Amino acid sequence: MDIFSEINSARAYLSAKKSNQLSIGLVPTMGALHPGHLALIRASKAENDLTVCSIYVNPAQFNNSTDLSQYPRTLEADLALLKQEGCEMALIPTNEEMYAKAVPLRFDFGNLDKVMEGRYRPGHFSGVALVVAKFFNIVQPDRAYFGQKDYQQFQIISRLKEELKFPLELRSVPIVREPDGLAMSSRNQRLGATGRKKATLLFKSLNYARDSIRKGADFAQIRTEIEAWYRQEDGLKLEYLEMADGTTLELTDHFSPDKNLILLIAAYVDEVRLIDNLPA
Ligand code: AMP
Repeated sequence: MDIFSEINSARAYLSAKKSNQLSIGLVPTMGALHPGHLALIRASKAENDLTVCSIYVNPAQFNNSTDLSQYPRTLEADLALLKQEGCEMALIPTNEEMYAKAVPLRFDFGNLDKVMEGRYRPGHFSGVALVVAKFFNIVQPDRAYFGQKDYQQFQIISRLKEELKFPLELRSVPIVREPDGLAMSSRNQRLGATGRKKATLLFKSLNYARDSIRKGADFAQIRTEIEAWYRQEDGLKLEYLEMADGTTLELTDHFSPDKNLILLIAAYVDEVRLIDNLPA
C-alpha cells in the first residue's frame, strides 16, 4: 500500500494512475477503523481499480473540543487493516496542509443542516462538507463511498456534489452492526463494559419505534415512552429521536407506509455521543 501525507505527492501519484485509465474509489474516514469502514473499502475494491482511503480527524467538523481531543487515533493498526484489505493507497494529510487559514470556509445547506445532527452540532456539516470537498478535489475519484450510519451526512454530501458539480458517483453502504445490534462506530471504543451494554438501547429504541408506528401507534407518543427509558437509567441521555423524509430530511410525526421515511436517533451513553438510524 502506498501512503501519502503530502497532498502534492498524492496528486502526482494519482494523476499517473489516471493516465493509465485506472478507476479510483475514495473512502473518507477519520480512522480508528472497524468493520463498518472495511465494508466501504470492500465496496470500493469491488468496482474500482484503485482504492484510496483517507484518514483524517477533521477539526472543522468538531463543535466540541473535548470530543476532538478524545477522538480515538489508532494509525498503525488502521494502516495494517487497510493493507490486509488490499487498499492500494492511504492518504493521511496534516492539518497544516488541509487548512491554510484559521477560519475555514462555511457552507449552508438550508433545512438539511438545521435539523438533528445540524441542530445539536452547529457547524458540524459545514466542516464535513468542506473536508469532503477538499478530498474530492485532491483525489478526483470516480466513486466515493459513505456509510448509511451517517444518514444525514449522505444527504448533505449528495447536495454538495450536485451544487459543486463533482463528476463522481456517490455510494451509500449499509450499516455494519455488532451481533447485539449496536451500530459499529469508532466512538464505541470509548465505552466501558457497562456503557457498552447500555448502548444497545439506541437500536432497541429504533426497532421499537418502527414496530409500533407500523402497527398504527402515534409517533409522538412512542417518542415520549422512549424518552422515559433514557431518564430511568444513569449515564443515558437521549438527544433526539426523529422521523424524517428520507431525502429532504423534513421532520414528521406522521407515518405512512408509502413514503420513504427514516427514524434517526442520537444519545449520550456515559458521555459518549452515539447515532443510529433505521428505515421507518
Ligand atoms: P468516520 O470515520 O466515523 O467518519 O466514518 C467514515 C465513514 O465510515 C463514513 O462514511 C461512515 O458513515 C462510515 N461508517 C462508520 N461506521 C459505519 C458502520 N457501522 N457501518 C457502515 N459504515 C460506517
